[in-house]
Amino acid sequence: MGTYTITILPGDGIGTDVTQQAQHVLEIIGEKYSHTFTFHKGLVGIAAIEAEGDAISDATMALCQQSDAILFGAVGGVTHNLGPNANASPERALFRLRKDFQLYANLRPVRPFQAMLGASTIKSEVLQGTDLLVVRELTGGLYYGRPSEIRETPQGLEAIDTLIYTEAEIERIVRTAFDLARERRKHVTSVDKANVLSSSRLWRRTADRVAKDYPDVALEHLLVDSCTMHLIRRPATFDVIVTENMFGDILTDEASMLAGSMGLLPSASLGTRQTGHGLFGLYEPIHGTAPDIAGQDKANPIAAILSAALLLRFSLGLKREAAAIEAAVEHIINAGYRTEDVREANKEVVGTKAMGQLITQALLS
Ligand code: NAD
Repeated sequence: MGTYTITILPGDGIGTDVTQQAQHVLEIIGEKYSHTFTFHKGLVGIAAIEAEGDAISDATMALCQQSDAILFGAVGGVTHNLGPNANASPERALFRLRKDFQLYANLRPVRPFQAMLGASTIKSEVLQGTDLLVVRELTGGLYYGRPSEIRETPQGLEAIDTLIYTEAEIERIVRTAFDLARERRKHVTSVDKANVLSSSRLWRRTADRVAKDYPDVALEHLLVDSCTMHLIRRPATFDVIVTENMFGDILTDEASMLAGSMGLLPSASLGTRQTGHGLFGLYEPIHGTAPDIAGQDKANPIAAILSAALLLRFSLGLKREAAAIEAAVEHIINAGYRTEDVREANKEVVGTKAMGQLITQALLS
């Protein structure tokens, strides 16, 4: 029995639909295991720009600072005009949270549900046994490098983005990957573009150096273009994949199709800050705001609910409760319920709210 504070930042689009269901699940966990969860709510993204003039206000940052963990939905919208002011970008909320709290390690587990192998576009026999973890560097690389701008030159407009990584940034994420691999099948695939990029050559050299401290863990290097191919050709051979920010962003969207939908994949973003119960972290589904289905009770809430399970495990130290959520989700999938994104013949398609309710009922039974 414990007391915990969680800040919920639903954001935009389906972010609000799915975090609502994840919060219900946490409330049920609180009742069932006699924990007191205090939920703070804050605006982020377009919702915050409209109401507070910034993608995340200082007051919301302070709420997060006082919490044990953050449950995040998604931010952004295809029709939003960013305007000339960079502060108006909804994504700034995520970038500020990640940078200010130094959440450099983004963990994205990919383990297709056995009963749902048919929902993937990849053949079931290729998917069989897939259980991988992508460790994505989250606070460096192209998304943070400066300068990043479109500028005028005498020859016309030009655009520049900066890809920069320090050896220390690479080393800490590679060590995270090796530490995690030690608790799994002891295999790390480091993904880079060392045949072209200097940052990747430093990445590979650093990975080789760190690997010497982990003689019990095998290290494989793959170029990112080749990795995209191997990921769908032999997904079951991967254990831990470690890579830089943008490569990880792209590879995990691809990896979500191994599971069947982006609506199934959770993530945890961790740094080094300790709370009274574990590591402070931000938890979010890997998907975006899905404007095409927002507010229509069509979004799959499972990625957000599984993100809440990761929150319990890593930030609150509640492993039994996390496992209970994961078992409840698997139970409902085995029972034949699906949301629209993973529709299958002979399975019952339900909406966002009904899927959330089924999972909470399974938790209570
Ligand atoms: P998206 O992830 O929002 O949607 C891609 C496709 O997957 C859509 O067809 C959508 O309907 C479907 N989808 C996504 N999540 C789903 C779910 N839970 N259930 C069922 N179907 C689901 O990506 P996008 O369309 O490229 O981006 C839309 C907006 O989201 C953009 O503004 C983008 O910047 C933003 N975005 C935000 C985040 C974040 O906040 N972390 C991440 C990615 C994209």
